[in-house]
Amino acid sequence: MDKHTDLSSDIELDMEHAVVEEITADVALYRTLVSNVYMLGKPTDKNWILIDTGIAHYHERIIAAVEKRYDIPPKAIILTHGHFDHVGSAKKLAKYWNVPIYAHTKEIPFLDGTSQYPPADPTVGGGLLSLLSPVFPTDAVNIKRWVEPLPEDGHIPFLADWNYIHTPGHTPGHISLFREQDKTLIAGDAVSTENPESSLAMLLPIIKLYGPPAYFTHDWEDAEQSVNILASLDPKLLLAGHGLPMQGKALEDGFKKLIADFHEIAIPKHKRN
Ligand SMILES: [Zn+2]
Ligand SMILES: [Zn+2]
Repeated sequence: MDKHTDLSSDIELDMEHAVVEEITADVALYRTLVSNVYMLGKPTDKNWILIDTGIAHYHERIIAAVEKRYDIPPKAIILTHGHFDHVGSAKKLAKYWNVPIYAHTKEIPFLDGTSQYPPADPTVGGGLLSLLSPVFPTDAVNIKRWVEPLPEDGHIPFLADWNYIHTPGHTPGHISLFREQDKTLIAGDAVSTENPESSLAMLLPIIKLYGPPAYFTHDWEDAEQSVNILASLDPKLLLAGHGLPMQGKALEDGFKKLIADFHEIAIPKHKRN
């Protein structure tokens, strides 16, 4: 095995604490402070990929988590979108493993320094995260050297059985990943399984299906359309960017409810525009 030689003592310390949760034989979850990182591929697979990278300064912990499960680095990093809590450690990880970062063409302007996301809307809900959201970084990240557009045919590089679906609304180039064979859906922030506007959500995770995190969602019509598309796939297992996995009847009912009451459940009453 091609072990990296520059593991710092910090990483070795984190090694003991990094908890990788195996969801299915070839899907694993690593929960960072605010968002989820997924690993697609069995520990014995030659090709596996990392989905999203958490906030900044999480790279050492993510590397430690990865090295608990795999002997080899991922073939690529795929971003569901470019918000700071998904792209934060992308550059450091891409550099460390020397792998490309893939994102949707429409998300790339937010990743190569061309465009900036609109600032977060703190008026959308009463929770701690939305009160703090004005201080969340929205500065243009620049990972130009590493980022590449996903193939236009909907393919996920290196993984033959996975496809991506353009699910805009939360951001213009947001994607979800789907595997038809077992109807596993990785939804990024197109939906959430924890109430993103509640400060209690982080302490008492009640698994329920919600719309996208409101303070950063820029187009509610697109967001609703994207939720409809995801529901029409009839997913059996949902892995969101925030919150715990959801499956079976709870998931089915959750999508029915979210679609029927999208305006009530997802769209903030006092949104800025
Ligand atoms: Zn987001
Ligand atoms: Zn997020």
